[in-house]
Amino acid sequence: MTREDAHDALDAARDGVPLPESLITQALQATGDVPRGKVLTLEQIYARCDEVGDCRIWRQSCTPSGYPRVKDGYAHILAWEHVHGPVPAGKRIYRTCRDCRCCEVEHMVLKTPKQINALAVKAGAWSGQGRIAKITASHRARSTILNDELAAEIRTSSETGPEIEARLGISRSMVSKIRRLEAWAPARRASSIFAGALA
Ligand SMILES: [Zn+2]
Repeated sequence: MTREDAHDALDAARDGVPLPESLITQALQATGDVPRGKVLTLEQIYARCDEVGDCRIWRQSCTPSGYPRVKDGYAHILAWEHVHGPVPAGKRIYRTCRDCRCCEVEHMVLKTPKQINALAVKAGAWSGQGRIAKITASHRARSTILNDELAAEIRTSSETGPEIEARLGISRSMVSKIRRLEAWAPARRASSIFAGALA
């Protein structure tokens, strides 16, 4: 690779073009900024990381997009190469812990850029508010929404707590709260049909 090609490749990578990581490493070496033959060992890479949970988070400088940078290329790629050999063309390293600064080889798998995009979309859809909304919706679909009439029915029913839980999907602890008038108590609800009778 010529120096010019190498600079073009690095510019493209900085602009977000998804190039194979082996090509980026090659380009970094071809620019001549990289002293050849002075490659960190896996132990040296791990020594430059902080152990956070079971991740090894790169402590030293990162690229603008947050990748752990070393003079020889990228720290996480070097770590991978020490264990598994070069990253094949068309494949990229995907961090299963989803932290791009993590150099723990156990947290790396090879994926195509297309697979990585699909995983990112899925991760976005299942994080934060989106995830909470989906869980709430699936809980609602499985259990009955409580209302005053249902609470009244639960109080007069001869069924046990577990039987009501099985039939309506309302937890037995909520059933006992309703029966002890600690939840959905009619006297405290102006709209309840019992409000007048119990006042
Ligand atoms: Zn990790």
